[in-house]
Amino acid sequence: MENSRRDFFKKAAALAMGAVATSTVVKAANATTTFLEKEMLLDGGKYTLPALPYGYDALEPHIDKLTMEIHHSKHHQAYVNNLNKALETVDGNVLGSPQTLENIFSKMLLLPAAVRNNAGGHYNHSLFWQLMSPKGGGEPKGKLGEAIKAQFGSFEEFKKQFADAAMKRFGSGWAWLVKNKEGKLVISSTANQDNPLMVLPEIDVKGTPVLALDVWEHAYYLKNQNKRADYITSWWNVVNWETAEGLYNS
Ligand code: MN
Repeated sequence: MENSRRDFFKKAAALAMGAVATSTVVKAANATTTFLEKEMLLDGGKYTLPALPYGYDALEPHIDKLTMEIHHSKHHQAYVNNLNKALETVDGNVLGSPQTLENIFSKMLLLPAAVRNNAGGHYNHSLFWQLMSPKGGGEPKGKLGEAIKAQFGSFEEFKKQFADAAMKRFGSGWAWLVKNKEGKLVISSTANQDNPLMVLPEIDVKGTPVLALDVWEHAYYLKNQNKRADYITSWWNVVNWETAEGLYNS
């Protein structure tokens, strides 16, 4: 059973590589992990919740176990369920093929708000889990580290500007480090579950996500209550710079 499941994912991944060879996310996944190769495709007609690459308590004391458990098993699961439900209402001709999340993001203007919110929720969280690690923290190395220093002057200055974008997002949303189409790193933030891959006029910075920070209260309220700044400070200790480097190099 486990083997056939693994084989399915291998085949799905191979299909994804062929069908969306231009996909930056698939290339990024190739460079780091295979997480989005399967998340981007419908698994037997339905999207599924990806397993966390670590235990719910693995990010303690920086991100607490109960927050991780509810965030992943309840919030993310709800985005997956509601995405599947929302897609049932969409004409297959509008969606086209391949039915990847990236394809959905490219057709955002044609699709209902429930698809936008839940496809974004599924993608953003799938990425967010991979961008954290119990072995995370420290400073980015390699080309990403160099590019951050070149673009922002220093890693400390980058952290300050990124945290500022996360703090200034009013209400719910995300902070991003994006590689834009000129290859330049740009800090941005989006509302709700929007992301830099969505083709919408209100997405002011479009490109490949390199770093993503969830600033919805559900990401920190149990431990940090209303103190978003404390959550951001803790989060730097678990950032998986290897995943970010893979996304940047894609
Ligand atoms: Mn969230």
